[in-house]
Amino acid sequence: MATLKLKDINKIYPNGYQAVYDFNLDIEDKDFIVLVGPSGCGKSTTLRMIAGLENISSGELYIDDELVNEKDPKDRDISMVFQSYALYPHMTVFDNLSYGLKIKKAPIREIEEKVVKAAKSLDLLDLLDRKPAELSGGQRQRVALGRAMVKEARVFLMDEPLSNLDAKLRVQTRGELIKLHEELGNTTVYVTHDQVEAMTMATKMVVMSNGYVEQIGSPEIIYNYPNNVFVGAFIGTPPMNFINTVVSKDGYLTIDGSKIKVDENKLDIIKENDLFDKPVILGVRPEDIHVDNIRGESDEEVAMNSKVVFYEILGADTNVFFNLEGKEVISKVEDTRDFTIGSDVKICFDLSKAHFFDVETTNRYTSKKEDKALADLISISRK
Ligand code: ADP
Repeated sequence: MATLKLKDINKIYPNGYQAVYDFNLDIEDKDFIVLVGPSGCGKSTTLRMIAGLENISSGELYIDDELVNEKDPKDRDISMVFQSYALYPHMTVFDNLSYGLKIKKAPIREIEEKVVKAAKSLDLLDLLDRKPAELSGGQRQRVALGRAMVKEARVFLMDEPLSNLDAKLRVQTRGELIKLHEELGNTTVYVTHDQVEAMTMATKMVVMSNGYVEQIGSPEIIYNYPNNVFVGAFIGTPPMNFINTVVSKDGYLTIDGSKIKVDENKLDIIKENDLFDKPVILGVRPEDIHVDNIRGESDEEVAMNSKVVFYEILGADTNVFFNLEGKEVISKVEDTRDFTIGSDVKICFDLSKAHFFDVETTNRYTSKKEDKALADLISISRK
């Protein structure tokens, strides 16, 4: 059982650089928290402050309601796994796995039981006599994970543990980590710059940029209700499209001179924020822009003509690129289709899931109805 609380945490490095601003987060028991954001946004710094490897410039850190700012890393009952495996090269896998317990002077039988249990769940039983040099990258990383498991710490901290693995192994180990978390239920804080890892593993994501927390929420909430343009662009591949537009009082918006009907619920947002005839940023995900060739049937009210600039076939789906309002816009089509570059196509917007953002602050506009839907989602995800 472990809960963590980060309250108004700031980090200013000795050279005066502020890497983390006002970080607030309540972590519940069994949570799998993923800190995600571009390189340099302050993820590792935050993790290292939780571990006690970096001092906290201001703010409070609680583990199970105990203030631990001044507590030594070794007394925080935390297990860490880093990107680099940091195994002892002269020791066998068994000795690497058991080292933490040996130091704690645990009884030999208990050590053996725990090592075998961890080795079994990580598929390392046949490798216990090998030394790290005789293992593949993936196997070494599994040993590093096993070492954290054997310690049975209250909190697991992981800093990009999969980033040294090749693509296939990364996906496989990601699955193993999810299963392990379901089995052991350790409260975990995991750092990655990879939004797919974050979406698939997190019970709660913390999206960061430039030292600030941009949004905290379940993957579903972050994907469907991004707080601002940054979050909408960072989460999702291809990223959300952003198109400068204006909604007029007749309920239509204009893109490159074409009129597109705005969904009723989305029109509430424009009404409630008094945005008619004012510039806004429309955010629409690639999967919500559909492409029909010119003969295809499409709802005229939400369609416009455009030209294919480029397309890429990805196997199950195809990304089609357009230029709208002078910017590149991507549509994700759910099958493999050959397009002709430069050809005319009709594109249809499903605006029921689109968002409007402020041109100045880039924050998402919302309506009372949308706030209520979001509040309901949050309360469901807490249960
Ligand atoms: P991330 O894990 O998101 O890639 P980090 O937490 O490692 O980012 O770093 C956040 C910022 O703090 C970066 O701009 C980095 O250069 C800076 N930084 C990290 N460590 C130090 C340090 N010891 N002294 C000064 N600045 C640092």
